[in-house]
Amino acid sequence: MNPNKMNIRIVEVGARDGLQNEKKVIASADKIQFIKLLIEAGLSTVEVGSFVRADKIPQMKDTAQVYAGLPDEFKKKYSLPCLVPNMKGFDSAMSVGVREIALFTSISESFNEKNIGASIEESLERFRPVALAAMKKEIKIRGYISTAFGCPYEGETSLDTLKKVANRLFDYGVYEISFGDTIGVAHPEQVKTVVQELKRHFDLYQLTMHFHDTYGLAMANIYAAYEEGILSFDASAGGLGGCPFAQGATGNVATEDVLHLFMKMGLSTGVDMQKLLLASQFIFGKLKRTSPSKAHQAYANKYSLKAKGQACPGS
Ligand code: MG
Repeated sequence: MNPNKMNIRIVEVGARDGLQNEKKVIASADKIQFIKLLIEAGLSTVEVGSFVRADKIPQMKDTAQVYAGLPDEFKKKYSLPCLVPNMKGFDSAMSVGVREIALFTSISESFNEKNIGASIEESLERFRPVALAAMKKEIKIRGYISTAFGCPYEGETSLDTLKKVANRLFDYGVYEISFGDTIGVAHPEQVKTVVQELKRHFDLYQLTMHFHDTYGLAMANIYAAYEEGILSFDASAGGLGGCPFAQGATGNVATEDVLHLFMKMGLSTGVDMQKLLLASQFIFGKLKRTSPSKAHQAYANKYSLKAKGQACPGS
């Protein structure tokens, strides 16, 4: 148990990692409204989108418009990172005034090849000019490492490779790395081993965990990571985003579930559950489906909110 009850940081990834894994493409105005509701709920780091090729990920093709459509006060006050895969993406991000970017790679050669069409080394080399340009402009950089706990093509991934790739990203000036359990195969004992190893090499505040609930272990993994000292977690409102590697399965852990856990433990996240529910219900209403999150469903009942997406605010 952590000796001091400190604040937990939740990084909301629903508008990017969530929506890019949903089949239905959401209108730019609705994405903007969703992000506003998330910020009003108290989330201070909200991923906005991804400057990737529109033919690769059509759900993210309007990231420039979405970012440009957010209120200036939000851009000054909150962290609103956008993913950029290369210099082209970086330039597009800069053209609309993005202040924080995220670079993403994995520790599996097969996954990297299929996902971004580059070896791990090639992806890191692509980031070098981006990181230099970002540093010159004083743009904050977040790092993502997928398949940190397992790969859909290679099975187990190597802890040594994880540390090496993390080192490279830190050399590029990233302020933190989000370690992704891309296919939701991590389990608490593995999480403890990985975090124990990572914290021998890096500062705890540089580490964020990104768990998926594919097999129902996201919350157990979050608790295991917390017990090892991790205080920052990625989560997606209502559990937005399925798992691209398991049809019909759940993907990102739901922000409501994470919030519920830490509320019960008496830890502060700065997030208001009722307002978060409004944000989730708004976007699930647009997707015309219900949130798979247990905490979402329970609190929606408790607060007598409609669970089917009708009568959503702003809809
Ligand atoms: Mg994810």
